[in-house]
Amino acid sequence: MELNKDAEIDTSQVTDARGSGGSSGFGGIPIPVGGGLLGTLLVIGLVIAGAFIAPNLGGEGGPGVAQACSTANPDRLSVPECRNTLYVNSIQAYWQSAMPETFGKPYKQTDTVFFSQAVSTGCGNADSGVGPFYCPLDQLVYIDLSFYDELARRFGADGAFAQPYVLAHEYGHHLQNLLGTAADVRRQQERDPGNANELSVRMELQADCLAGVWASHAAGTTDTKGVPIFKSLTQADINEALEAAAAIGDDAIQKKSGTQVDESKFTHGTSEQRRSWFSTGYKSGDGKSCDTFSGAV
Ligand SMILES: [Zn+2]
Repeated sequence: MELNKDAEIDTSQVTDARGSGGSSGFGGIPIPVGGGLLGTLLVIGLVIAGAFIAPNLGGEGGPGVAQACSTANPDRLSVPECRNTLYVNSIQAYWQSAMPETFGKPYKQTDTVFFSQAVSTGCGNADSGVGPFYCPLDQLVYIDLSFYDELARRFGADGAFAQPYVLAHEYGHHLQNLLGTAADVRRQQERDPGNANELSVRMELQADCLAGVWASHAAGTTDTKGVPIFKSLTQADINEALEAAAAIGDDAIQKKSGTQVDESKFTHGTSEQRRSWFSTGYKSGDGKSCDTFSGAV
């Protein structure tokens, strides 16, 4: 994958909250995994239990994203937050045009919030240990970019295209929120708690499928001036997304953490399911193919 150096990076689609995280008065206390907050957040699926939370040492968190990613910086594409902002631009450019024609509803742009270690959100305080997530209450995507190191180091998903996959999955949750799917699922989960995990799996697989749909159109996405965001995107990139999806399957994570594989605890789907639904979205290129709620998944 090569990003297009001529594409303009629209930093109005991201918020830089790095350096502000630990200051909201909770002193880096990790959210208990499996606690109430995770019931609200829609995470990528890889919870890094016991993540180290350091006290925030303050500061404004380095130069602003807008400055770092402006065309005045010739090296902007080597800056992780600039690359990730371009991924966000591409994902939102696609859904902006595709959501009305696919689902008959307008898309509503939303920011990705970059944070480090901990962040205060509309869903409560969260730390990096929960991995990237979407908060349906403030409708924002949150990511600590150091998550990608974890994904590469501990789960072997070190391909560059793992990153846009993760973001596209979270924006899939944003779509589910806009479409009312997320609220429907929450209601069903409350009515039928015994079925809550299975419903969660179906919702997560749909987000993977929607990520695949974006991926199949990513090469055609442009910045606001019509300049293509990607210079090249190949099957090798798609394979990296598939690898990342597989790496964070519930069974893979359970095996990795040395616990017995327990299907009843699955919330995101197996490696095979995640890979397969991303693939379904990618091959069809159509959000309507992402019906993970009827039939077997
Ligand atoms: Zn998710």
